[in-house]
Amino acid sequence: MNAAFLNHIASVLNQPIINYAPVSGGDISEAFKIDTTAKSYFLKTNTSGHAQNMFQTEKLGLETIKNTNTIAVPELFACGNLGKTAFLLMEFIGAKTPSETNFKTLAEHLAKLHKTSADNFGLITNNFIGSLPQQNKFHKHWTDFYINQRLLPQLNLAKTSNLLQDSEIPTEARLNEVLTPLFKNIKPSLIHGDLWGGNYIIAKNGTPYLIDPAIYFGHNEVDIAMSKLLGGFSHAFYQAYQNIIPFNAFTETRIEIYQLYYLLVHLNLFGGSYYTQVKQLLNNYF
Ligand code: ADP
Repeated sequence: MNAAFLNHIASVLNQPIINYAPVSGGDISEAFKIDTTAKSYFLKTNTSGHAQNMFQTEKLGLETIKNTNTIAVPELFACGNLGKTAFLLMEFIGAKTPSETNFKTLAEHLAKLHKTSADNFGLITNNFIGSLPQQNKFHKHWTDFYINQRLLPQLNLAKTSNLLQDSEIPTEARLNEVLTPLFKNIKPSLIHGDLWGGNYIIAKNGTPYLIDPAIYFGHNEVDIAMSKLLGGFSHAFYQAYQNIIPFNAFTETRIEIYQLYYLLVHLNLFGGSYYTQVKQLLNNYF
């Protein structure tokens, strides 16, 4: 971080910065812990062309979750840019290793978030999943939303990038045929949208925080599917969640269908190593 940028952040904070250090773990932006005498802050910076838009939608996601009063998110202090460097400045959350009690609280708060509903599936704006665009055009029915806003855009991107052949991509009619009976009676639920183990923090006092959201009104089991794809959530988490929002006979299958979206995103972001898993799910279901 150069001196001019650091000075800019100090002027945004209206207090001198006494120390700053890189934070590892992010795969998209650069991250820093910024210390002032009063408080510590978490700063993300990114110089890519769509970074300002990315941080604006992250801000909207954090604010939307905050407004539900269901689960904590870091307090936001600024979202802006200095020249080509976009930045997002928020409260720094000092982390601890989660206990079973912390996982239970995380599940209970997440379930409360998921009980936030709306009339339609989608969001007022498009956002991002990782660094890829994520469409959120409103749809009345979950099957239509999941096919048109989730699976088809990623399948088509994989085709354009030669990661999948035309013959490997199911038609919209086939997707509809398979998904309609699996997606009955699903109501819009506000979800985090990218709930892998790196996107929650248990604060030192045990409060669970969500970070880095890709929110929309979708199916609550999408968050459960992502949480199970890469791990990082304990048995106590799933137990406590199901005590509030039970799973049903379709859940296991739907989880695989929702994991297909994230695997397609991984295929499009990181390339061929995800092909086998994508292909297996496509063969199994479509
Ligand atoms: P990226 O968008 O680049 O993936 P993340 O938002 O995931 O970046 O953050 C990168 C790292 O910083 C992660 O390891 C995460 O745990 C940590 N982190 C994110 N937000 C905060 C915060 N508000 N306070 C403390 N650490 C944070």
